[in-house]
Parts: sequence; C-alpha cells; structure tokens
Amino acid sequence: MTLTGEEVAHLHEQYVLQPWAKQGAPATPIKRAEGIYFWDYDGNRYADMSSQMVCSNLGHQNKVVVEAIKRQADELCYIAPSFAVEPRGKLAKLLVDIAGADHFQRVFFTLGGSDSNENAIEIARFYTGRPKILSCYRSYHGSTLGSAFASGDWRRFAYEVGGAAPSFIHFLNPSVYEDGFDRTEEDEARCTRQYLRQLEEQIRYEGPETIAAVLMESIVGANGVLIPPKGYMEGVAKLCRDNGILLICDEVMAGFARSGKMFTWQNFDLVPDLITFAKGVTGATVPLGGVIASKEISAFFENHPLPCGLTYSGHPLACAAGVAATQYYLDNDICGHVKQLEGVLKPALEEFVQRHACVGEARCIGLFAALTLVTDKSTRELMAPYHTSNGRMPAIFAELKRRGFYTFGRESNLNVCPPLIITEDELREQLATLDDVLAWADRKFCN
Ligand code: PLP
Repeated sequence: MTLTGEEVAHLHEQYVLQPWAKQGAPATPIKRAEGIYFWDYDGNRYADMSSQMVCSNLGHQNKVVVEAIKRQADELCYIAPSFAVEPRGKLAKLLVDIAGADHFQRVFFTLGGSDSNENAIEIARFYTGRPKILSCYRSYHGSTLGSAFASGDWRRFAYEVGGAAPSFIHFLNPSVYEDGFDRTEEDEARCTRQYLRQLEEQIRYEGPETIAAVLMESIVGANGVLIPPKGYMEGVAKLCRDNGILLICDEVMAGFARSGKMFTWQNFDLVPDLITFAKGVTGATVPLGGVIASKEISAFFENHPLPCGLTYSGHPLACAAGVAATQYYLDNDICGHVKQLEGVLKPALEEFVQRHACVGEARCIGLFAALTLVTDKSTRELMAPYHTSNGRMPAIFAELKRRGFYTFGRESNLNVCPPLIITEDELREQLATLDDVLAWADRKFCN
C-alpha cells in the first residue's frame, strides 16, 4: 500500500529521530528525484542547489550508477571484507590512481565520512606511535566520537559532555573575510603569515614529537567553503613535513570533482599522507567512505596488522556504485564541466557582493561556493553571529525553498553547491531566483 505525502510526513515526524534538530518539526515528504531536481508529494519541484548534503554530485538517479548497483545486487550483495571481490579491488585501484599511484597505495573502506576520519586518526596514531591530533576550529569531521572530538564547530559540544578525549587539540584556521582581511595579494600574504606563525608556535608548545597528525578539510566545507589564503595549505603541509607529523586531508565534502579537481588538495602544492573520502564517491547513491594511505603507511601495514575493521568495509554494493560513479566522473570529464561552470557561478556570486547589501563575501572554486551574509557591510556584522539563532538565516532558506531553490548553510553562510552535472541554463535560472531572494533579504534584514 502506498502512503500519501501526509502519512509519510506523519511517520517521520512521529518516529524518526531527526539529526541536529528538535524533534517533531514539520518534514517535507519527498516523492522522487531526477537530475538536479526533487519533488514533494504535492508536485512542487525543488532545484537541489546543495546536492543535498553536498553529496549528490552526479545529480539524482544517475542511470549508469543505478544500473551498476542493480547488477551487483543480482550477482552478490555481500561478502566479508577478507574476500577479494571485483568492485572492491577495482575501486581501490581507481582511487589510488586518481590520488597518484606514485604516492599512494592502499585504501581502507568505511561506511561514510565520520568513520573514515575515525579510522584515519587510528591509523595515524598507530603508525606514528604519537597521541595528538591537531585539527581546525573552523571545521567539521563527523559525528563518531573521534571525528566529533576532532571537529571544531559547536556540533562537537554534545560529544564533550563528560569530558572531551585527551589529545585532540584545536587550532584556529583562517576565515579571510570574517577575520577582517581582504582578498588582495598583500592581505592574503599577511593572513597566511599570521596563521602559520600561530600554528608553528602551537606545534612547538604541544611538542612536535607528541603529534601524530594534522587533520584538515582540504577546503573547509560545511563551515562556509572557506577558501584559504594563498600559501596557507602549503605552509601547513611544510610544518607537518618538518616535524614528522602526518597530514590527513579530509575530502569527504570537497572531493570528487567538487572543486574542479577529483581531490581538492590537488589544487594546492602539497601531497597528504592520508586522504579521507565519502559522499561523492558513490554520488550518494549508497553509503561508502574510506581512507587512502600513502605508500609508506601502506608498507608499514605489511608488517603490522591493521588495527581497524568494519563488517561492511568495502561492501560490494557500495563499491559497485563507487566504481560506476568514479568512472562516470572520469569518462564524462566532470572536472572540465565544473571548471567551465565556475566561469558562470563565480562572477555571478561576485556580482551579488556588489549589488546586494546582505552579501558580504562570495567564495567559489569549481561548484563549491558559499556567500557570507551580513546585516551591515561596513562593519561586516554577520547575519547570524556564531552559534546564535536569531531566525534570519532559517527565514532566508525558507524563502529560497518556497521559490523552489533548496540549499542549506551554517552560521551566516549560504552554500551554493549544485550537482556537478547541472547545465549552464539550469544554473543561470537558479541564480536568478537566488538574486531575487537576496534582494528580499536586503530589504528585510539590512541596516
Ligand atoms: N568530513 C566532512 C568534511 C564533512 O563535511 C562531513 C559531513 O558533512 C563528514 C566528515 C562526516 O561525514 P558523514 O556524515 O558521512 O559521516
């Protein structure tokens, strides 16, 4: 028996524990999705301008990926991680080749982003024999204990009830606009110098010999697509190298062509020791994540048993989706397409900064973009000061959704991260809606 939209919503509202939210709030029942769109039970269409949780990178119901899942389901749904099975090995090799087979060798598969970081932390500690994990305040790495402790934003607070685990140390990473800098060459250099000097001091005071790894999002995603100032990421990598500290790049959100490169760290002049991934690897069709390990770390585990394991590590259905999706990015030059559309999105968002009182800054690399919304440009007063709720940002997201533009954002950031298969016409149509809503927000919230 098929349920009505109302019944679907009722079940959700009554029985599902909704993540990161008070319970019982109205939920929109969703009937179907295709390409960049999804529809509710009343037939309303929404453009998915955040690729859901920045994961549906290939849009919805990509036929190639769905077919691959069906084929694998018919053949073999599950076999334990110790057996060799075609999609698992194929996907591991594909990912190593994309990351660079001269530096990387093996992949540990997980079920999503949180446990990819959890296991990367464990691998880094076991490999180095050092306890401490340094990570950024302006970050999110997941919601298992270790990945939550490593996360910097307030979502870690609930996990710290009863005390945070020792040896998780945070450092402040740059947010150029919020920190009062401009995007000039001179200001970026100043910002980079300031933040690297602080980190160097922090490493010195923590004791480099006690630090296993620096864990960083290659570009901070959920906290506002914080494109780092020039030279910052390379500087962090050098500090790691000079101190025997591993660099873990979290590519869970930034990876899989989002920034116009298969991995976002490939935009910088650095090579990490461990790469964590999830989301886009299957285009969110099936949950999958993992850790790609350098040759050195992979070799170490030829003599030491890997101290990690999961029943569903390298689940054949997920890996079949992963092979199909990853191959789809490559075969269809999704990176090239993303770079081309960056040429539409970036200038449009920069123009919003000029035209709208509520847009303080626009950041865009590939189809990975966010606006910082303000109430007063002259003082950079944020629309929603950190970890407060004044209802303004939810009102803006609701107005966008009412007009068929779905996205999300944290704090004062509004993400624009559409599926990477969006066409130029679709993108321009949605930017026009965003433009209208920003004009509405100018009138409603700006001084
Ligand atoms: N790392 C980053 C950068 C993320 O953005 C997220 C989720 O948004 C995670 C890790 C956690 O991934 P998951 O929700 O799949 O556990």
